[in-house]
Amino acid sequence: MATLSIDPRVSGRTADFVATDHRMLIDGRFVTAASGKTFPVYNPAAGEVLTYVPEAETEDVNRAVAAARRAFDEGPWPRMSPSERGRTLWQIADLIEKNLEEFAELESLDNGKPFKVARVADVPLTVDMFRYMAGWATKISGKTLPLSAGNDFHSYTLREPIGVVAQIIPWNFPLLMAAWKLAPALACGCTIILKLAEQTPLSGLRLAQVLDEAGLPPGVVNVLTGFGEGAGAPLAAHEQVDKVAFTGSTEVGKLIVQAATGNLKKVTLELGGKSPALVFPDARIDAAIRGTASAIFFNHGQCCCAGSRLYIHEKVFDEVVEGVSHVAEDIKLAPGLDPSCQMGPLVSDEQYRKVVGYIESGITDGAKVAAGGPASGVERGYFVRPTVLTNTNPRMKVVQEEIFGPVVCAIPFSDKELDAIVKRANDTLYGLAASVWTQNLSLAHKMSRAIRAGTVWVNCHNVFDASLPFGGYKQSGWGREMGEEVLNNYLETKAVTIAL
Ligand code: ADP
Repeated sequence: MATLSIDPRVSGRTADFVATDHRMLIDGRFVTAASGKTFPVYNPAAGEVLTYVPEAETEDVNRAVAAARRAFDEGPWPRMSPSERGRTLWQIADLIEKNLEEFAELESLDNGKPFKVARVADVPLTVDMFRYMAGWATKISGKTLPLSAGNDFHSYTLREPIGVVAQIIPWNFPLLMAAWKLAPALACGCTIILKLAEQTPLSGLRLAQVLDEAGLPPGVVNVLTGFGEGAGAPLAAHEQVDKVAFTGSTEVGKLIVQAATGNLKKVTLELGGKSPALVFPDARIDAAIRGTASAIFFNHGQCCCAGSRLYIHEKVFDEVVEGVSHVAEDIKLAPGLDPSCQMGPLVSDEQYRKVVGYIESGITDGAKVAAGGPASGVERGYFVRPTVLTNTNPRMKVVQEEIFGPVVCAIPFSDKELDAIVKRANDTLYGLAASVWTQNLSLAHKMSRAIRAGTVWVNCHNVFDASLPFGGYKQSGWGREMGEEVLNNYLETKAVTIAL
């Protein structure tokens, strides 16, 4: 094995964890892959190997599914009182909170994001998700239904856990995405096989230890590390899995749907986006500049809801582009654990090449670079400068496709007709999110109704809360995460009718 490169700024605990012989969680035991294979995990700030983790393949998937199946069909978890399940979820939240710094360090090391962001955003939101869902465990109930057929029947619904759930998550918010998936499924009484993203398995492996410590019965949550084709695909296709919940690219989302057809398992998908941010001339311009810059540059643009198409009214176009460009130029690129870091590296070499390729394609197609550009100026690591492109047209790849990096296309509009602006905002395969920047209340509400997206933010962007449903229209997905609504992803409804 190569010498491992661990940032000297991390705590001893984190360094020890990174250097351990990593194991997956299957059936309540920490195990290697059946094949004994491992694969490297990289530090994106240096492009060097951080550590190695087990490489799950079909045999490991089969073991994990068998464990989850047993835990669901015979184990205590779906049968215990909702209050007990809620207490366990709360306990998981407490344990994550107790280890907040360590989780934030792992997230920063592995994903590249600034430690201070992981510390105030990723980890606290994760804790909150488990607490919020701990509350829901005791509030899942059916209804009593009056029948049109008359009073000779007593009918009611039961809301039951959907069964064994496969959850496949991405690398952009590794811990938080695990929480978005695990917490509601656990609250509903499901059992789970969670496949972590191959780029960022470390916080999920640490979470597996926390789940074990919280006293989850064996097989209730199984945590696998492995690749999409080797581990994700057999999981999505598995006949003993009742449901697959996926977050990732639209391309892989379509493969998941195909894989699920064998046993017609239920599917929910949280996929890509090309979200518009619309700045109207009456907006508070300072706030709009800061807000739309953050809409695209937060998490290095590696957000499915990043505000990557910035439509600005022509009256304020120059001012907003100049302002967002200034913000971009001022952002300090550094390794996530460097205290001065405002933006870390992208997650991987592959992602780095993809995003730089998009910037270059935009330039080749005639776009102008108002800030940033393809060269990062940083010697090593997968850094990309926050980039603002102007002079684009609607047919360019940079305007149409999800870049998943810190690259925004600023586009002027002069339309007085609301319909024309709405049409441009909606002119995409996706429908995940949008933001509207205006002081005009009526316009804000009209835009919120007209935009075909699962989330509309007004005078803000990237506001997430465990209580807010999140998900996409069109090719941005099926179903919703978070809020009361996510419970639908993990429950079946049974109608019971009794002749009186
Ligand atoms: P990205 O391109 O941003 O890495 P992906 O959609 O490829 O996003 O990956 C998201 C998750 O889906 C990861 O956990 C990955 O391993 C998994 N994955 C990739 N390909 C497949 C597949 N064919 N079947 C199931 N899971 C997959």
